Amino acid sequence: MALIVQKYGGSSVADAESIKRVAKRIVDTRRAGHDVVVAVSAMGDTTDELLDLAGQVAPIPAPRELDMLLSSGERISMALLAMAIHPMGFEARSFTGSQAGMITDATHGAARIVDVTPVRLREALDEGAIVIVAGFQGFNRDTRDITTLGRGGSDTTAVALAAALEADVCEIYSDVDGVFTADPRVVPRARKLDRISSEEMLELAANGAKVLYIRAVEYARRHGVLIHARSTFSSAEGTWVGTGRHPHHVPEGEHMEEPIVAGVATDLGQAKITVVGVPDVPGKAAEIFKIVAKSGANVDMIVQNVSAAGTARTDISFTLPKTDATTALKALAGEQIEVGFESLVHDDQIGKLSVVGAGMRTHSGVSATLFEALSTTGINIEMISTSEIRISVVLRAADIAEAARVVHTAYGLDGDADATIYAGTGR
Ligand code: ASP
Ligand code: MG
Repeated sequence: MALIVQKYGGSSVADAESIKRVAKRIVDTRRAGHDVVVAVSAMGDTTDELLDLAGQVAPIPAPRELDMLLSSGERISMALLAMAIHPMGFEARSFTGSQAGMITDATHGAARIVDVTPVRLREALDEGAIVIVAGFQGFNRDTRDITTLGRGGSDTTAVALAAALEADVCEIYSDVDGVFTADPRVVPRARKLDRISSEEMLELAANGAKVLYIRAVEYARRHGVLIHARSTFSSAEGTWVGTGRHPHHVPEGEHMEEPIVAGVATDLGQAKITVVGVPDVPGKAAEIFKIVAKSGANVDMIVQNVSAAGTARTDISFTLPKTDATTALKALAGEQIEVGFESLVHDDQIGKLSVVGAGMRTHSGVSATLFEALSTTGINIEMISTSEIRISVVLRAADIAEAARVVHTAYGLDGDADATIYAGTGR
């Protein structure tokens, strides 16, 4: 008998029928003799609809009230799910984040979990109940207010519960079969991965893969939680992420032939800003990135050219989320004279392609394969950055899909047939 934490995303509980289907799945797990703790997201697009409503009554809704509002989405699904289980002959009890002991800091809309005290959950489990917890929400001890963890936060709820309860596995259910070597909607020959290390998953999630949220993967790695990402709509095995105690899981390193590259991620959510004609003297990069940081923007890649002969001036380009670009540009323009640069160029037609694989540590020529594949296709590279297990390039947005396909082929990742493409979102 194991303790299994299951997370169901909004698309898995979108209507009454789906809730009953999920209830059946939970009951089947319980019948197999396991203790079950469920973290559930709000039904379908509820969170977006609530956000929309808030925007209609106030231009900038108060963060405290926004969390009160958004956390109600998960209260609806958790109660309905518990009710749907009862007629199947099992005891189920729902708990809000605060009842479940999800203690966070006080940052509304992006709270971090600081402690999990699942006393009531353990009591319920000891009494034989199935436990249902509202995802995405917590409670701050100082302000005594309800908080939310940020969009997609239910993954983090599930992983944090799995860690605190020392669960054997954290199953994350969505409408896709698991983690793929690329987004199947972009690369039809993408394959589902049976296993992936948490460090590779982190890099994929940080670079555009949407199947798991980066904060959840981070939390799982730190606390040694084994994730099994799988589909609500089939009983097939999904993708095992990380290592853990689960009997079905093959620990990392036991397979002799590890692929060098695990997957290809694409991200169309970034923009590029170029600061043109920056005086080439010490301290200018510091000035620029202090201004950008103060604007709240999250800078990703940075490229600085050597100054053109005789000009003593240089260009600095960087990428950042599209949503941060306007504020960053405004902040920079406000200090143009102080910094002494000539102009700003904003480019939102870029895309980022990343190749991720732990095998890069020990194999040479991995980046050459990438550049070769792009050059034979006539695709121009605008920026390059690397980490120990990742190579990323910035390209024209219009080239991203084709680039992903040729690169996927070049690394031998193509499956024998096209992947089943779901209308799904992976959430
Ligand atoms: N309902 C929240 C959202 O849509 C949390 C989640 O789905 O994980 O972002
Ligand atoms: Mg959702």
